Amino acid sequence: MGTGTKVAIVTGAARGIGAATAQRLAREGRAVAVLDLDESNCEPTVKAITAEGGQALAIGADVSDAGAVRAAVERIATELGPPVILVNNAGVTRDNLLFKMTEQDWDTVMNVHLRGSFLMSRAAQAYMTKARWGRIVNLSSTSAQGNRGQANYSTAKAGLQGFTKTLAIELGKFGITVNAIAPGFVATEMTKATAERVGVPWEEYQAKAAAQIPVGRVGQPEDIASVVSFLVSEESGYVSGQVIYVAGGPRD
Ligand code: NAP
Repeated sequence: MGTGTKVAIVTGAARGIGAATAQRLAREGRAVAVLDLDESNCEPTVKAITAEGGQALAIGADVSDAGAVRAAVERIATELGPPVILVNNAGVTRDNLLFKMTEQDWDTVMNVHLRGSFLMSRAAQAYMTKARWGRIVNLSSTSAQGNRGQANYSTAKAGLQGFTKTLAIELGKFGITVNAIAPGFVATEMTKATAERVGVPWEEYQAKAAAQIPVGRVGQPEDIASVVSFLVSEESGYVSGQVIYVAGGPRD
């Protein structure tokens, strides 16, 4: 794709890693579709972007709903332009030990992470293949390597790694790269909710996590946004099908 503003979609961009990523991409000159479950929750991210002179559009959609995804991506193409960057970031946790995990806990996590990334990627690739340029980044997790209480989430995050590699193989010839980022502990509402659930004060929970991390601190949403920024850039065009662990230390 030649010059001109590239349109990016960031899912789950109302807060956390998604919000930081949307702001970062907008700062770099992308027009950003800030997509989350509830359109009104997207407004703070959109306002933060427009306050800095960037371009953004709030979009309410459930990524696991095929009709909603189709309508959302069509609206983005009409109002912002054809999307050629997609960051599949929307996520939920429904943690429990296996014997206590309900079918609904299982299905919800599979639907948001796996079905959601599938539906969003399928809708967006139509514009990317046409443009002969595209970037897809999927949010995996260190939990893909196994994590107590997260049979559903770790399965979904491992699944996203296979999805990433397969899309990289299928879409490479169209100038589209597909990569995954697997964050370790990042301070967001998601990890805060886990701290609350296990009854450990937030500061103490972060300090305990930091003690186990080689760089000696927990991650911030901007630590992930900066890696997304690289993976959607022009210069990363020879990097595809990779899983990049962003965890303050080594992972296999
Ligand atoms: P977060 O603060 O909980 O934000 C996730 C966002 O996704 C929320 O705004 C949420 O909306 C939205 N969302 C949930 N279900 C959705 C759906 N069906 N359709 C559209 N949007 C939906 O999470 P985060 O910590 O920033 O995590 C972002 C991504 O990174 C997730 O995929 C997560 O699994 C992954 N990750 C996070 C960490 C970490 O330590 N934080 C580590 C590894 C990987 P609602 O508020 O309306 O539910």
